[in-house]
Amino acid sequence: MTPELLRALPKVELHNHLDGGLRIATVIELADDLAYGALPTTDHEALAAWFYRGGSGSLEQYLAGFEHTIGVMQTAAAIERVAYEAVEDLHADGVIYAEIRFAPVLNTQRNLRREDAIEAALAGFAKGREVTGVGVGLIVDGMRDRPDTAADARAAVRLAGDGVVGFDLAGPERGYPAAAHSEACAIALDGGLGLTIHAGEADGPLSIADALDSCAAQRIGHGIRIMDDAGGAIAARVRDERVPLEVCPTSNLHTLGIAPADHPLGRLLRTGFNVTLNTDNRLMSSVSLTDEFAFAAEHHGFGRKDLAQVTANAVDALFVDDETKRSLRARVNAGYAS
Ligand SMILES: [Zn+2]
Repeated sequence: MTPELLRALPKVELHNHLDGGLRIATVIELADDLAYGALPTTDHEALAAWFYRGGSGSLEQYLAGFEHTIGVMQTAAAIERVAYEAVEDLHADGVIYAEIRFAPVLNTQRNLRREDAIEAALAGFAKGREVTGVGVGLIVDGMRDRPDTAADARAAVRLAGDGVVGFDLAGPERGYPAAAHSEACAIALDGGLGLTIHAGEADGPLSIADALDSCAAQRIGHGIRIMDDAGGAIAARVRDERVPLEVCPTSNLHTLGIAPADHPLGRLLRTGFNVTLNTDNRLMSSVSLTDEFAFAAEHHGFGRKDLAQVTANAVDALFVDDETKRSLRARVNAGYAS
């Protein structure tokens, strides 16, 4: 399939960080607006290369990239713009529904409260939806290495009726167990939000079990290291319970140093796991969902039927009502049949 054909396929994305997907031009303009002087360069091409170098091997620079994107997302207007542009960019990539996430506590460096940051993102998504027709839900992240995730969950629940659909734990996995955030996760679930947790990315299967057992996670962000347990009890449980795995191949190649053919994507799909395909951080990894589909086709032999399957899996795993799922399923069926 050509990139044009892949781009035209209706796609659904579950795992996409708002602060990992800014346009380069927007980073530069917002830095100017906010008098943020810490960018390594304000030359468009040089900055693009800087971010991409970060995505190609050095975890340190990958994380430094977020320092700058978050640094320019400290006003409501900036967050709203970034959120709107994300929807425009996803629309151009053939995405018909996306759940986009960020950690509002990181956007409180100036004078915003968590709720202000969330509301600004929701306003950008609403405008994006109006202009493009792309459906968007917001997932609020709590950070594993911070003690106050219950406050993140409470802020998310307060805006649950306004477009917040889920809660997530992000940030460093190793040494920061999900169990330490069981209160935040319970607040989110009690408040009617969906729950996904980054696990099994940098750390192994026990971290996935921790997310499922300590917090009752409904989906797992990444989860690829479940294959460390291939044939074991945790892997069997994740497979048999059809726990959706938000797989983000390009991000893994960059931060974990996996070779394309060695990524577990193909093995996960063919051994019966509930696989979805996602970008994680479009800017840092210089990747689109179309690119991820092309990666799956080229390196793991995914055909149209497999791409239809991972898209149907994503629809089923969305934190939306059944009627929205039915309507998305019909669009996906039609899009992959032709
Ligand atoms: Zn992520």
